[in-house]
Amino acid sequence: MSPSRATGADVLPAPTAAAAGTAGPPVPWEYAPAPESRDIVHLQARYGLFINGREVAPRGGRWFTDLDPATEEPLAEIARADAEDVDAAVGAARRAQRRTWGQLPGRERAKYLFRIARILQERSREFAVLETIDSGKPIKESRDVDIPLVAAHFWYYAGWADKLEFAFPGRSARPLGVAAQVIPWNFPLLMLAWKIAPALAAGNTVVLKPASSTPLTALLFADVCRQADLPPGTVNIVTGPGEIGMTLVTHPDVDKVAFTGSTAVGKEIGRAIAGSGKALTLELGGKAANIVFDDAPLDQAVEGIVNGIFFNQGEVCCAGSRLLVQESIADLLIEKLKDRLGTLRVGDPLDKNTDIGAINNAAQLARIEELVAAGVAEGADLYQPPCELPARGYFVRPTLFTNVAQSSRIAQEEIFGPVLSTLTFRTPEEAIEKANNTAYGLSAGVWTEKGSRILAVTKRLRAGVVWANTFNRFDPTSPFGGYKESGFGREGGLAGLLAYVRLEDR
Ligand code: NDP
Repeated sequence: MSPSRATGADVLPAPTAAAAGTAGPPVPWEYAPAPESRDIVHLQARYGLFINGREVAPRGGRWFTDLDPATEEPLAEIARADAEDVDAAVGAARRAQRRTWGQLPGRERAKYLFRIARILQERSREFAVLETIDSGKPIKESRDVDIPLVAAHFWYYAGWADKLEFAFPGRSARPLGVAAQVIPWNFPLLMLAWKIAPALAAGNTVVLKPASSTPLTALLFADVCRQADLPPGTVNIVTGPGEIGMTLVTHPDVDKVAFTGSTAVGKEIGRAIAGSGKALTLELGGKAANIVFDDAPLDQAVEGIVNGIFFNQGEVCCAGSRLLVQESIADLLIEKLKDRLGTLRVGDPLDKNTDIGAINNAAQLARIEELVAAGVAEGADLYQPPCELPARGYFVRPTLFTNVAQSSRIAQEEIFGPVLSTLTFRTPEEAIEKANNTAYGLSAGVWTEKGSRILAVTKRLRAGVVWANTFNRFDPTSPFGGYKESGFGREGGLAGLLAYVRLEDR
């Protein structure tokens, strides 16, 4: 909430009049506004497509409006690509793969990737502010998490570009060709980096489609490609609705498809390209269990739980959205958690004090609200700290459900919002069973003082990433990906490189 509309939850107790040595009522203490300036961002009225190193207008002459989720005000008009534009982008990528980028030795590709990483760092504030305006995420997260990780991915994969012959011992790594990459709106530039950096390092060229509600940092990245003198056609960016994503991934001249987004669309893509010979990686949804045992350091666990579900408004595929807490400490932990929720600041994403920004789009807000209502209807107990939401924009209060049944929708379905469902357990066996009782298998967390318990439990959790006594930690060297309905293939690390190469015997 904005400080001017602060209510009980933000107001810390003032020094008493007696303590201050004067008479009179206590003075409420509030955070002063600390907005990041938007001046560094220069928004164009219209953004075209980025094809063959140039910004071009869509052939069909159609555009759509991108909104600021915190104000619902229009930000810019964005090109709506059609099948001909997609064909032009794939054609440009193919030519670059054959004639320029694909012919460069690894050490030359590395120089470009290092250059991109440096430019991203130099322009990090511009990218952070733009990401926050377009996605609704708090500036402290785009500034301190998203953009540094974006640069780190380019640094990391730049390091591999000239070492491919050592990456997979005894095998030669060849590029796959043209990669079609479709990314979501929750970490727009970070997902671009996860997809583009390994693809280019291995000698592929790419056509990327960002989500329609967050195209701006991808389009600013096009400017970075120009600034880095990347050979035209190496990176192409097409914008447009989901069906354009489908046109792109099913294009006959695409060799590799990488998708991050909903499980439903991931399945659709899997069906559409089955039998085509295209390589595929899918990074889909999740319903992670964050398991707290009775010997866990509770205050530290509370911070980890908060980070697990309220980071990026909970719009995180690996969010710790199911809290599994050992029955003997449940009451104490929930009490501490409720206290902590009361200190979270919801509101203007550009304010440096904001913890929970805007939900990315109206459809997602409606989905969260529907699932919260379902949780209440199914008999779970709802807690939201008192806080006033901004009058405009897509906002949700931090939400805690207790007394949740394992069969409840809020325990089974991905909510993708700042909503935590709490279940209890008595034994480690029960915790593992409940944690694995989901269609997903992306991530999990374990909180305990005992190293032996960490090892015993983590190896039985069916999740691609398991954190112990921490949550939501990311590193470009570390593979990330899921099991079951969370998809397949890994991004990050050497495994992330493997997804973009064809291995041949030497
Ligand atoms: P989608 O899966 O629809 O969107 C992700 C990306 O896929 C976007 O670029 C989207 O384009 C594109 N897309 C949409 N439909 C198709 C299609 N048929 N073929 C190819 N590409 C397509 O996610 P939503 O935005 O609809 O979010 C719905 C739910 O998905 C969320 O509530 C959440 O549970 C989950 N989700 C998971 C994410 C993750 O990181 N794993 C990320 C985002 C959502 P466009 O934006 O133009 O529609």
